[in-house]
Amino acid sequence: MQKLQGIAVSPGVAIGEALVMDNEGFRIPRRFVARDAVVDELERLDKAVEAAAWEIARNRDAVARELGAQYGAIFEAHLQMLQDSRLHDELEEMIRQRHYSPEYAVSRTLRRYAQVFQRIESSYLAERANDIFDIEKRLLRHLLGHRREGIAHLTSPVLILAHNLTPSETANLDPKFARGFVTEVGGPGSHTAIVAEALGIPAVVGTGSFLSEVSGGDLVIIDGDKGLVILQPDEETLALYRHEAEENRTLAARLEPLRDLPAETLDGVHVDILGNIEFPYEVDHCVDRGADGVGLYRTEFLYLGSDTEPTEEIHFDAYSRVLNTMNGKPVTIRTFDMGADKMPNMPAMEDERNPCLGLRSIRLALRNLPLFRTQLRAALRASALGNLQIMFPLITTLLELRQAKMVLADVMEDLDEHGIAFNRDLPIGMMVEVPAAVMMLDRFVKEVDFLSIGTNDLVQYTLAVDRSNKDVVQLYNPADPAVLRLIKTSLDVALGANVPINMCGQMSGAPIYTMLLLGLGLRRFSATPAAIPEIKNLVRKVSIDQSKVVAAHAMNMENAREIKSYLTEEMNKALGKTRT
Ligand code: PEP
Ligand code: MG
Repeated sequence: MQKLQGIAVSPGVAIGEALVMDNEGFRIPRRFVARDAVVDELERLDKAVEAAAWEIARNRDAVARELGAQYGAIFEAHLQMLQDSRLHDELEEMIRQRHYSPEYAVSRTLRRYAQVFQRIESSYLAERANDIFDIEKRLLRHLLGHRREGIAHLTSPVLILAHNLTPSETANLDPKFARGFVTEVGGPGSHTAIVAEALGIPAVVGTGSFLSEVSGGDLVIIDGDKGLVILQPDEETLALYRHEAEENRTLAARLEPLRDLPAETLDGVHVDILGNIEFPYEVDHCVDRGADGVGLYRTEFLYLGSDTEPTEEIHFDAYSRVLNTMNGKPVTIRTFDMGADKMPNMPAMEDERNPCLGLRSIRLALRNLPLFRTQLRAALRASALGNLQIMFPLITTLLELRQAKMVLADVMEDLDEHGIAFNRDLPIGMMVEVPAAVMMLDRFVKEVDFLSIGTNDLVQYTLAVDRSNKDVVQLYNPADPAVLRLIKTSLDVALGANVPINMCGQMSGAPIYTMLLLGLGLRRFSATPAAIPEIKNLVRKVSIDQSKVVAAHAMNMENAREIKSYLTEEMNKALGKTRT
C-alpha cells in the first residue's frame, strides 16, 4: 500500500482499477488474461519483442551511418536490454504462472527496473530510467497495435491516473466509465479540476510523479475530499473507504429533499442559488438540485474538444437546450473564455509565454470578430426562447466592455435587418475577475445590467499565483485578506448602485465561505450543481445578522490561514444547530 498526497479538487471517494496514462498519453492496459489464452499471449509477446528489436536495430544502423557508431551504441544498449534473457524469463513467468497480460507484465517489470535506476543518487543513472521507459513504450506499442484506445472511448469502469489531462480531454471523459482521476501536475483552480466537478467524479491533482510506481489494473482509492490517493490499499483501508463511499451516498440522499425548499436564511432573507455548467447536459443536474437558474454557462467548452469551429447552429442548439430545460429561469451565457489553460484543438493558437496574461478570453474575442459574432448571433437568436443573459469574461478596461457591447449591438442590427427575432432588452453583464475591474467598478456599474465575481481568476490575478500550478498551491487562497477586500468592495459598489451581483467562482460553492459572503451582502451564489444542496442547507441554518458578525470578524483578520480556520469553526457551529 502506498499513500500520495495531492490537491483535492472534486469531492467523493472512488475505488477501482487503475488505467494509467503516461506523459505521452499512452495507455497502460489491464492485468489478467484467461487461463487458456496463455500460449497465445506468450506468442504475442515474442512477436512484439521481435518487432521492437527489428525497429531498434534499424534505428541503430541509421544513426550509426549518419552520426557514427558511438551514437548507434545508444540503440545497441536498448537492444541488449530488450533481448536480455532475464527479462524474457521474468515476463514469461508472469504470463505463464500468474496469468498477467503481456502488456501488464511488460509495464510492471520495466517500471520496476526503471525505479531501481531512479532511486540511485546519480543523475546519469536516473537518466537511464528513461531508456527503460522508452523500451517499455516501444513494446507496448507493438503489443497494443491497433487495439490502443484513447480515454474518450472507455468500455469498463476505471480510475484514470495520468501525468496531466487537458480540460478538453477531461471534458470528453464518460463519467459512466471514468469514475475518478489523478494527475501528477495541475492546480486547484485549473479547468481540468472544474470539469471533474461537472462530471461529478472524485479527482486529485498535483500529486507529483508517481506513475512509474503503478500499473494498469492495480487497485486504487481516490479520496477527493482529502486529496489522497492510495495505491494497492490493504483490506482495512479498503473497508474504511467502502464505508465512507456509502456514507457519502447517504448524505447526498439526506440533502435531496432540500431541492424543493427555498434558500432562505433563518431571518427570512431569500438567496438565489444557481448552477455553473460547462456542457448542456448539466442543465439536468441544475434542475435535479433545484437551481434558481444557470449563473454561468462556460460556453468555451463547445470549442474545446472539437477540431473545427462550432457553427452558429451548434451554438444555437446548445443554448436552446439549456433555455428550454430551465423553463423561464435565468440562464447566463458567458461568451467564450478561451486561452490560458483552455486551448481548443483548433489551429492558429500560438504558444504564449504567459498565457494567463496573454491573448485570452474577451481579448481573443475582440481580435477574432467573425468567431465572436457567430457566437453572439446564436445567443441572441436563442434569447427569443427564454430568459437569457449575456456576460463578457475577463473585462479589464472600460474600453474593452464598450467594444464588446458595440459588437453585440452590431450583431443585433444585423439580425434586425434580416427580421430574425431576439430579445432586445436582454441583460448584459460582465465578470469581475481582474483587480482592475474592481478598482473601476463604480464606472462599470453604469454600463452593465449585472455583475458576476469570478473568484478563480480574481485570486490568481490578485495574488500573482497561477491557478493551475501545484507548486504555488499554498499561495492560491480565496481566504486571503486581499481577495476578501476586493470582494467586499465589489459587493459594496454593486449593491450601492443597485446592480445585481452574483458570484460564480468556486468560492461560491465552498460552504466555509457561505456565512462570510452572506454577511458581506451576497445574495446570488452560482456553483457547481453538486454543491448546491450543501450551500442551501447552510443558508437555511444561519441568519443574516449572525453572518454579518462572522464577516466583520473575518475582515479584521490578517492572514488566510487564520481566516479559514475561523470560518470552518463558524460553519461547523452553524451546521450543528437545528432549524427551528
Ligand atoms: C472565475 O474565474 O472565477 C470563473 C468563474 O471563470 P473561469 O473559472 O471559467 O475562469
Ligand atoms: Mg475566470
